Amino acid sequence: MPPASLPSTTDILVAGGGPAGATIARLLAGFGFQVVLLEKRRFPRHQIGESLTPQILPILDFLGVRAQVEAAGFLRMIGHTVCWGSAQPRTSYYSPDHKRHGFQVWREDFDSLLLRHARIGGVWVIEDLGAESVTLRDDAVVMHTGHGSCTASFFIDASGHSGILARQGFRQRDATFQTLAVTGYWRDATNPPGIDAANTILETYPHGLVWSVPLHNGLRNVTLLIDWHLGNQIRETGLASFYHSESRQVSYITQFLANARLAQPPRVFDATWYTASTFAGERFLLVGDAGLFVDPLSSEGVHKAMASAITGAIVVNTILQRPLAVATAIQFYEETQRQTYETHYAESGRYYREEQRWPEAPFWEKRTREQFGVRSSEFPIRNPQFLPCGGPQPLRQSTSLRA
Ligand SMILES: Cc1cc2nc3c(=O)[nH]c(=O)nc-3n(C[C@H](O)[C@H](O)[C@H](O)COP(=O)(O)OP(=O)(O)OC[C@H]3O[C@@H](n4cnc5c(N)ncnc54)[C@H](O)[C@@H]3O)c2cc1C
Repeated sequence: MPPASLPSTTDILVAGGGPAGATIARLLAGFGFQVVLLEKRRFPRHQIGESLTPQILPILDFLGVRAQVEAAGFLRMIGHTVCWGSAQPRTSYYSPDHKRHGFQVWREDFDSLLLRHARIGGVWVIEDLGAESVTLRDDAVVMHTGHGSCTASFFIDASGHSGILARQGFRQRDATFQTLAVTGYWRDATNPPGIDAANTILETYPHGLVWSVPLHNGLRNVTLLIDWHLGNQIRETGLASFYHSESRQVSYITQFLANARLAQPPRVFDATWYTASTFAGERFLLVGDAGLFVDPLSSEGVHKAMASAITGAIVVNTILQRPLAVATAIQFYEETQRQTYETHYAESGRYYREEQRWPEAPFWEKRTREQFGVRSSEFPIRNPQFLPCGGPQPLRQSTSLRA
């Protein structure tokens, strides 16, 4: 086991041990670099984002962890059921024979598996230690922690929403879609009749949407996705009573919760979309949610994070090994990340416009506009709807928002 103390120098520093950080660290260690990964928390740690679509499978194959994920016992998700545009549930499957599947993963287990894979692959993983700030110099990068500093040739920000480097001037929040997610885990929920028990269920209502994800440990995640302005109501009524009264406003999902009880108090998350003005430089890269965050509706967050880590590993290897190709590598990474955001933006726009029942409601009014999702030459960086961080600050989980 490597020592838990921070070395004073290394080749590559990675902040964050989620799917993006674990993936890029493992690949770069495989290329022969000394990689030190700092994770602020101790794993297993809770993380939201359990539905993985079948697009995750080639990535798991590429990393060599598919068999382990299959053996972990996660539910196989073969489709989803939506009450969207009408109260009538509609079910779609990933393939006509119902064989194509993704997973409903418990992130404590899934993320631990990936971090263990990184460790086995030679990554020096230090848990319970967060990066506090990063200094980019011409000749090196220095990461500062509460237990000393480490100097490296390259720094990778994989710290998710925290964005330890991204927030040092790169992050741009989408002011139009300021969104909150309120999540509760239920025990003893019943399975919906007539559909596969592992399906994700989505149901819209005037304030936003509710989705429900069954998990192999017997819990069912029921999450509200709502407009930011309802944060005031949460403050006034308290999170638990807000969550209960909002989740009763949908009819399809609520029927499966009739005899269920919350396993723990609900929690609130900032689910506002954001991107970055710059994703890479000669000494740094932003991967996964540190770089960009798309609508959780897509169930593509983990896939997007791991895909950016794979591309990112090749880009970092090129930057460090091929001085003549540095500019091309940086430009390539910038373009792939921008394209990812743009594609998700367009797809979300198309999907949201299918719900036209509450065009005046604040959540839907913004999301069903004709221009939402339509490509523009100004997209997205020079578009005035994108505010640099330092403008409106993200809502932090505060005691006043807790139950
Ligand atoms: C409400 C909601 C629902 C979602 N649902 C889905 C879904 O169904 N399917 C899906 O695929 N995605 C979903 N997502 C998105 C998904 O959770 C993320 O896209 C995914 O976790 C990104 O992985 P990551 O590795 O980039 O970041 P994370 O998983 O956030 O990992 C970042 C890690 O960095 C650590 N860290 C933070 N700060 C520091 C620091 N300073 N130093 C060191 N370490 C640090 C954190 O502890 C964390 O372990 C959802 C997101 C939200 C908000």
